This record gives sequence, structure tokens and C-alpha cells, in this order.
Amino acid sequence: MAAASSSIKSRHVAVIGAGAAGLVAARELRREGHSVVVFERQNQVGGTWNYTDHVESDPLSVDPTRPIVYSSVYGSLRTNLPRECMGFRDFPFVSRSDSIDPRRFPSHGEVLAYLQSFAKEFRIEEMIRFETAVVRVSPAAESGGVEGIGKWRIESTEKEKKVHRDEIYDAVVVCNGHYIEPRLAEVPGISSWPGKEMHSHNYRIPEQFKDQVVVVIGSSSSAVDISRDVAGFAKEVHVASWSDAADTFIKQSGHSNMWMHSMIERVHEDGSVVFQNGKTILADVIMHCTGYKYHFPFLDTNGIVTVDDNRVPLYKHIFPPTLAPSLSFIGIAWKVLPFPMFELQSKWIAGVLSGRITLPSKEDMMVEIKTMYATFEALGIPKRYTHYLGIDQFEYYDWLASRIGCSGTEEWRKEMCLPIFMGKVRHPERYRDEWEDHHLVSQAYQDFSLYIP
Ligand code: FAD
Repeated sequence: MAAASSSIKSRHVAVIGAGAAGLVAARELRREGHSVVVFERQNQVGGTWNYTDHVESDPLSVDPTRPIVYSSVYGSLRTNLPRECMGFRDFPFVSRSDSIDPRRFPSHGEVLAYLQSFAKEFRIEEMIRFETAVVRVSPAAESGGVEGIGKWRIESTEKEKKVHRDEIYDAVVVCNGHYIEPRLAEVPGISSWPGKEMHSHNYRIPEQFKDQVVVVIGSSSSAVDISRDVAGFAKEVHVASWSDAADTFIKQSGHSNMWMHSMIERVHEDGSVVFQNGKTILADVIMHCTGYKYHFPFLDTNGIVTVDDNRVPLYKHIFPPTLAPSLSFIGIAWKVLPFPMFELQSKWIAGVLSGRITLPSKEDMMVEIKTMYATFEALGIPKRYTHYLGIDQFEYYDWLASRIGCSGTEEWRKEMCLPIFMGKVRHPERYRDEWEDHHLVSQAYQDFSLYIP
């Protein structure tokens, strides 16, 4: 619903993070007329796409005192989406004359270069305070603000704590990324198992597993990629998956040393790993490719924003009703097309903050959230799937587009996705280099011609 133009307001907005989400949020907020400061703890844009050889001192990343590494990208990583689907809607991710990797599913360096070009094109860097970590976000004491918009106090430290700032903002948009705080599988007997455990957050290159027996837990993109990467060096790779039947035991085609199992039943102090399918192996390493938890260590909302088994109480995965619209989150929904979704979410937040677009009442937003939770409970769906969109993502994007007043997702983008998802499951070795959707690629490039000089 759009409000009268006379009520449009410019806000002083803090954006936390200069990854893909923070960059596009900053652009959309400024386009809407807000004044924007982006806080970024690293010294460059791009977030998780800033590949580093460094890993954390604690390979499982459970020690709260460990120095954190802010990237989860591994050396061999190529995108799991084709460029056409992956890029922002009005800044297509096409290969350029200076591309590092012109392939349709390029390596991580090309994604970083794309985000750097985006930041340059839209002069985002002039809004960013680099090497500045937000350490606390809390409601400002004199929180009156303008019509229901509470103000926020932001405490930050710059350049290894040499500068400490304490400032007040009208609104905060949280874009701090969700691939840093690992989730781990529960493995019975693990405390006395003598092998090495690690999380995929700390995986970079396969050579370190030469001649070892490695168990990879998980079935999502990272598990699929990393198991194949490691199989090139390891003696054996055994993939343990929750989502497969208990009797699963499949030799992976194309690999002489890789097997798919059901989940681990138990591990023992003699180094053995027993799977639910009854098979037992002796392993050197267990790698958890088991995803991540939402984590907002800087956020103090008196218990309003919580993370409960990866469920965050948000209206449309963005606004906590009682703190809306002055607090919002980008990128919480998953199994999505991240960059285009960030773009739509940013436009909606920007329009709501200016008063151009109105939100339902806090009560109505809360009712919608509670109804959704009741449905999950009735269907027995675990809380951690609250923000999973998958097949429903396009309905969500179209809903956002209708609020913003822009066009919904392009048909070619929708049509491209399903075969890619299927290809990823059926032909993980080939889907990045063999495809049949040439007609959709042509349609995409026709649309891109609007934006490419
Ligand atoms: P991030 O990129 O993590 O950026 C968050 C930023 O916030 C970081 O720069 C961080 O330094 C900063 N920050 C955090 N806390 C603070 C603080 N307190 N103060 C100041 N700054 C802070 N997506 C795709 O579209 N295609 C793919 O092929 C793909 N592959 C992926 C593979 C892997 C292994 C991973 C981990 C993710 C992949 N993704 C992929 C998803 C990817 O994470 C998103 O595309 C996107 O880059 C996330 O952007 P973000 O801005 O939300 O988070």
C-alpha cells in the first residue's frame, strides 16, 4: 500500500555489513533519499566472497574467544547459480572484458569482482566506514523519534578499537551475513572419538586430506562440492546424510573412492564410525557441512529479536513487528536467489522507512507470524525451516515487487532455476558446464541489454 507523497521522510540509517546485502541496501536507501552509513568490519566490500587462506584456530568454530574469519568460501568454489539468475536485477552479472572467469558458473573471485564493480558503479564506498565493527545496537534512551519510529544507539569500534563511536540513528538495517556461526551435527560417542572434527567454514583446500579417510556430514551444496573436492586426494570419502533412508549405501558414480550413507549412528574410541545402514569404517576426519546459525551478537533488543533453532520472529523475514520499521533484516530467507532477493527486500525497507509504503499494524504482522508458526507446528515442520523458501521464493519476490510497485521476477529467471536445482542433484559434476536452456539465456540477455552499455 502506498502512502501520500507529502508524508515522505528522509531517515538517518545505519547498515551493518558491506556484503552483497549491505551494498544493495545502501544503494536503495540512498535512492529513496535517506542518509546512510554502512559499517563494515573488514577493509573491503564483498563479505563472504573475500576468499582467504586463513582458517579459524578452532576447526569446529565453537570457541567463543576465537578470532573469527569472515569468509566461508573454499578455494575451488564456483557459483551454484548461473550468472543470469544470480545477479542484481538492474546490474546484470555478465562477463566483462576484464573478467577473471567468464564461465557461466564462475569461481568466487569473479563474484567478488562483480560486487566491487557494483560498489564502484553506484559510489557505495563513500557511505562505508571500513574496519569498523558494530559492537552494540540498542534502543536509544530518548527513543521518541518520529511517529512510531524508535531511534537506535549504535556503538562501534574502528581500526582495532583505536576509535570508539557512540551514535544515534533513526533506523538500522542488519546485513551481517549468515555463514559464520556453524551448526554442528550431534554424533553419539564423539567426545571419545580420536579423529579430527571440523566444520566446512574452515575448509579451503583438499590437499591436506591426502590418503585420509574422510566422513562428510551433509547433503547441501557445500557437502556436494567439498566431498568431490576432497575425493581427489583422500583415500576414501564417506558422505553421511540425514535426508536419505536408513539403509542407504551407494557408490558414487565417477568416483572410485566415494560412498553415500545414511546418517552416522555412533562413533567409537577405536576411531570407527558406524552408519545407520550398518556399515563400519575407520576414519581420520569428520567434516560437518551442516550449515550455519543466525547470529546477532551485537543486538540488544530486550529479548524481542531471538534466534530459536534458526527461527527469528520477523514479518516477511524482514521486520520484527514491535520494532518495525526502524529495525530490519536482509537475507534471512534461504534457498533463494540471494542477490535479487536482497535487492527487493532493500527497496521495500527503503520505501517503508520513508513512509511511501505502509506496513500492516503491529498486531496484524504478529498475527501473520503466529499463524505461520501454528501451521508449522500442525505439519510437524521443524522451526529451523521457518525461513526456507525454495519453491515458494518466486511468490515471495512477486509479493515484495507488488508492495514496491516494480515488476515481478522475470519468467526466464523462474524457468531457469528448477532445471538447475535438479541438475545440481542429479549431475553434480556436470551441471555447471553442460546445459540446455540456451533460449532462456537469450531472453535474459535481451533484458540485460537495457542495462549493459
Ligand atoms: P556476507 O557476504 O557474509 O556479508 C556480511 C558482511 O557483514 C561481512 O562483510 C562482514 O564483515 C560484515 N559484518 C558482520 N558483522 C559485522 C559487524 N558487527 N560490524 C560490521 N560489519 C559486520 N550465493 C549465490 O547467490 N550464489 C552462490 O553460488 C553462492 N554460493 C555460496 C557458497 C558458500 C560457501 C557460501 C557460504 C555462500 C554462498 N552463497 C551463494 C550465499 C552468499 O552468502 C550470498 O550470496 C551473499 O553473498 C551473502 O551476502 P550478505 O551480505 O548477506 O553476507
